Amino acid sequence: MSNHQIHIIGGGLAGSEAAWQLAQAGIRVKLSEMRGSGDMTPAHHTDGLAELVCSNSFRSDDANSNAVGLLHQEMRALGSIIMAQGDLHKVPAGSALAVDRDGFSDGVTAALAAHPNITIVRERVDQLPAEGLTIIATGPLTAPGLADSIGAATGKDALAFFDAIAPIVHRDSIDMDIAWFQSRWNKGDGHDYINCALSKDQYLAFHQGLLDGEKAEFKQWENVPYFEGCMPIEVMAERGVDTLRYGPMKGVGLDDPRTASAEFPNGRWPYACVQLRQDNATGTLWNIVGFQTKLKHAAQVALFRTIPGLENAEFARLGGLHRNTFIRSPELLDATLRLKSRPNIRFAGQITGCEGYVESSAIGLLAGRFAAAEILGRTMAPPPVETALGALLGHITGGAEAETYQPMNVNFGLMPPIEGRTKKADRKLMYTARARAALEPWLETV
Ligand SMILES: Cc1cc2nc3c(=O)[nH]c(=O)nc-3n(C[C@H](O)[C@H](O)[C@H](O)COP(=O)(O)OP(=O)(O)OC[C@H]3O[C@@H](n4cnc5c(N)ncnc54)[C@H](O)[C@@H]3O)c2cc1C
Repeated sequence: MSNHQIHIIGGGLAGSEAAWQLAQAGIRVKLSEMRGSGDMTPAHHTDGLAELVCSNSFRSDDANSNAVGLLHQEMRALGSIIMAQGDLHKVPAGSALAVDRDGFSDGVTAALAAHPNITIVRERVDQLPAEGLTIIATGPLTAPGLADSIGAATGKDALAFFDAIAPIVHRDSIDMDIAWFQSRWNKGDGHDYINCALSKDQYLAFHQGLLDGEKAEFKQWENVPYFEGCMPIEVMAERGVDTLRYGPMKGVGLDDPRTASAEFPNGRWPYACVQLRQDNATGTLWNIVGFQTKLKHAAQVALFRTIPGLENAEFARLGGLHRNTFIRSPELLDATLRLKSRPNIRFAGQITGCEGYVESSAIGLLAGRFAAAEILGRTMAPPPVETALGALLGHITGGAEAETYQPMNVNFGLMPPIEGRTKKADRKLMYTARARAALEPWLETV
């Protein structure tokens, strides 16, 4: 089919979902996927579309008290092929939605191949198309030629490669009777960071915990050199007992108010200190500064909860280590996922900086819907920010800090906060009820 109306590059989760949404709207789609033409990414194993590269789980399917479960529900309401095939190939997994990965990928491939509006071409694309409506959905392992072309089009520093990510904590799970707001040396507004002080004994125990904690294993393709500016904390800890105390855990310039006295009215500098930096516009999520790590997730939770003030920390994202390619979406993309400098090109999936199968598919769904509306001469408003779709999209296209932008799972912290004091379980129900109420009228407009 040479008369396609839009070209989608990448037949992973996002590209497949975008193609489906467009085709269902009556748009003719060309879908280019390099697997099946002799190329393979370092993590894929098959030629199937929407192959799951690691676990087989779409995580919680609980739409009442879990943000990813809510996202499932919203995607189903929008006719998602990923959710339809996921449901069809479901395997028992408690309250999670886990799938038979081969049946799932085969199902998506067959549905797209059978669709009269979709032509699947097995080819690697090495350049951003100069013209024509295009969706780039080539994922975290975008082939190098295209990655270079994207880098050239988005500016020298726009393509971010990283080796390790730091955990993110829900603000309302930090004990502010122990932690305090202050920037080091009172710079800026003077209170930009949340600080958690450690005594000498607490620091030494924490350091030992880093050395002893179970680390994630490297896969061959993950074995890239560390950037000095993004060194995992356990690697720093191995360099010496004080390395962290002179690095991300330094206490200088910070006055712990709990130690205030006549001599030090603002408090004394702690032996060591952990700082958290605001991670989203609404201030519901805070990033532990410099705490990129390859500790296993359970080890991270156990160790980070030994930090005073974080005893009950809830994590929106834990640290991790893998090679990844994503663009600085908050500054590069408009509200409908178009590259501002070249609006014929949209981005979708993990390359936009969302994280996870479901999130990548959700952003593919929205990219497909926005592109279909554009082709059909309609305007489509972004989903309301109270919904999981709208919250995720808003984070990617402007809510997140561009300078410190890192891949993100959907979570309630991306939504406008629910005011007032309520029990955590009740608050989750309130988030999801509010999301459903907001989604319903929006659905009638799309
Ligand atoms: C090693 C690894 C493990 C992961 N484990 C999990 C997990 O357990 N759970 C989870 O939720 N998420 C996981 N993720 C994140 C996961 O990659 C994404 O959630 C999801 O696969 C991203 O979807 P996507 O469509 O953006 O990219 P992908 O699914 O990767 O799809 C991109 C597609 O583009 C194709 N492509 C790339 N370059 C080109 C090109 N130049 N021309 C043509 N085609 C091209 C690729 O072959 C691929 O099919 C993992 C990621 C990695 C890298």
